[in-house]
Amino acid sequence: MELLNGNEVSKLIKISIKEQVATLKAEGKKTPHLAAILVGSDGASMTYVAAKEKDCKEVGFDSTVIRFDQSISEAELITEIEKINEDRNIDGLIVQLPLPKHINEKKITETIHFKKDVDGFHPMNVGMMFKGLKTFLPATPYGVIKLIEHYNIETSGKNCVIIGRSDIVGKPMSALMLQKNCTVTVCHSKTQNIGNFTKEADIIIAALGIPLFLKADMVKEGAVVIDVGITRVENLNSKSGYSLKGDVDFETVAPKCSYITPVPGGVGPMTRVGLLLNTLEAVKMQG
Ligand code: NAP
Repeated sequence: MELLNGNEVSKLIKISIKEQVATLKAEGKKTPHLAAILVGSDGASMTYVAAKEKDCKEVGFDSTVIRFDQSISEAELITEIEKINEDRNIDGLIVQLPLPKHINEKKITETIHFKKDVDGFHPMNVGMMFKGLKTFLPATPYGVIKLIEHYNIETSGKNCVIIGRSDIVGKPMSALMLQKNCTVTVCHSKTQNIGNFTKEADIIIAALGIPLFLKADMVKEGAVVIDVGITRVENLNSKSGYSLKGDVDFETVAPKCSYITPVPGGVGPMTRVGLLLNTLEAVKMQG
């Protein structure tokens, strides 16, 4: 069994991004600039945005966090996004989700200009991704693909089972694995006897958000298991009072696998580099 080490691979990718940024600067070209909109003061959202700022700094990008009070109206937020759409200094824009209930997330996602939509959530980018055209890929599936490619994992002709069909993970993941010539099965909360599907899988991607869902008896010998799930569970022995659990029962599943991602240190850091890669691409696409 070999670990798919997202910490290590993401470090290598960040070094490469940093070098590309240095080259852009040396050629007198633009420094990539990511803007993040943060509405309100949700603790998890603030942590995610701070991590994105830190990542930008590490690779030499400019970054701006634009903070709004929880009470901002949908119309005001749309006006602010439209201003950023026009701002040539900003290459990529993300709006940290979730937004307050009075703001329609779909409307907001669609307001971001698709050429700045480095989260890859705009319908234009989703459509281009499904057609296999070059575009911004949602960061998590993008990170998983980078991990698979780094370890030269064979995908062609393999059975891939994805558990979860969300717009940000499961669905785009299925399109990307199909493009990698897998035979893809997508399971979800209405799927009966998921184990019957996963037992036949060469590659399993678990993205449902139920800690330790995938057990050893659901996995065949030699499978590749990628655990996207992250759930905070109470752990009084840890300093923070919680620990992070994936969707895979790592202890029992790992011995059966050819490759498996740990949680933390697997898909999480790869998601973070996915966003950086998209931001770099945004600059290149705009010439
Ligand atoms: P989500 O929007 O809640 O979607 C969960 C999906 O799992 C849904 O499609 C749901 O099916 C399915 N599901 C729920 N219970 C199920 C069950 N018992 N059996 C089979 N399928 C079931 O979640 P998400 O945003 O995709 O995230 C999934 C997990 O990945 C979460 O733990 C999240 O924290 C984590 N995540 C991690 C990263 C990272 O960087 N590592 C990034 C994004 C998300 P229905 O469609 O039928 O409801």
